[in-house]
Amino acid sequence: MKTADKTDLQSLLLSELHEQLCNAGEPSYRAGQIMEWVYKKRVPSIGKMTNLPTRVRNWLDEKFSLSKIDIVRTLGARDTTRKFLLRLSDGNLIESVLIPASPALYGGRADRRTICVSTQVGCAYGCKFCASGLEGFSRNLRADEIINQLIALESATGEKIDNIVFMGMGEPLANLQNVLRAIRIINADWGLNIGARHITISTSGLAPQIRKLAEEPLQIRLAVSLHGATDEVRNRIMPINRRYNIETLLSACDYYNSHKKQRLTFEYILISDVNDSDEQARLLSRHAHRLSAKVNLIPYNSVSGLPWRRPSEKRQETFLSILRAKDIPATLRREKGHDIDAACGQLRLQTERAELTKG
Ligand code: SAH
Ligand code: SF4
Repeated sequence: MKTADKTDLQSLLLSELHEQLCNAGEPSYRAGQIMEWVYKKRVPSIGKMTNLPTRVRNWLDEKFSLSKIDIVRTLGARDTTRKFLLRLSDGNLIESVLIPASPALYGGRADRRTICVSTQVGCAYGCKFCASGLEGFSRNLRADEIINQLIALESATGEKIDNIVFMGMGEPLANLQNVLRAIRIINADWGLNIGARHITISTSGLAPQIRKLAEEPLQIRLAVSLHGATDEVRNRIMPINRRYNIETLLSACDYYNSHKKQRLTFEYILISDVNDSDEQARLLSRHAHRLSAKVNLIPYNSVSGLPWRRPSEKRQETFLSILRAKDIPATLRREKGHDIDAACGQLRLQTERAELTKG
């Protein structure tokens, strides 16, 4: 939580806390002690940081908050994909998903537990197939709200999360500053200590921000939601393509590749009669070849109220085989969590609709 003039401790870098402590005349080693209470011991309040003198605790209390976020609904059982609906301090709802160990999709080892986090409340990009965009955009999440999703899920499940994908609600590259701040804290040894190679950002194709991200020294992974191999198909389902068309997007990806060692991933949702033709598969393999990218095929998850459907399994397999025949590393996600509306934004939408009908 950020009360009017207080910053949450979980939005601060160690160096920033150092500096503030020094300005207050306190020894800088206190910063390390404080971060240890926050991230290693996970105390619920500043008052519980018992090795700090009362003077320092009072100072912290005056300047900073230390919030948690509440889980209001959980769907799914242990060992399956579980989806969590979280309520932020201002009442807004967001979602996080916990995906059990499964064959590595984004480069992590097969035995990793992955969290899919949200970066915004709603989304302004309005992809035609996506539940997150349906009710428009409310606001960006702060770094502490991003980090708190991970802390809330670990504390609710008792499980250690070791892989993180920015594929929940929202467009991470439209909230780049807060997302990068959260990633620094997630990656830091004084923070959550998750390796950069186990952190993946997914974008619908904000070309200028992809270039900015390329210049960041962190070796995080990038997934690009392509969902169409031509401008014609992409324009039909993703309004962002009218601003940054496929060539603009792919050349930003070239630039990204020239700065990074990690392979790019193309996300490609398969939607029946929209983007699942043989011709789209051939063109997609050409783009993937140009960028040495992997392709993750994801059968579309129906969203209530939207007309799109997933193709038959046979069509999905054919699409996959065309990519494989061109030697493109490709996987077809036999969707976990289809039964719990696991695609981003769906649980929130459902709950908000239920709350609305309750009046
Ligand atoms: N805004 C970013 C990240 C969040 S969306 C992006 O678009 O990449 C994460 C992924 O979920 C995207 O690839 C998105 O296209 C996909 N997605 C959205 N709705 C879906 C649905 N109904 N079924 C399957 N995937 C979906
Ligand atoms: Fe936003 Fe991504 Fe959904 Fe598009 S797919 S509306 S960019 S969250």
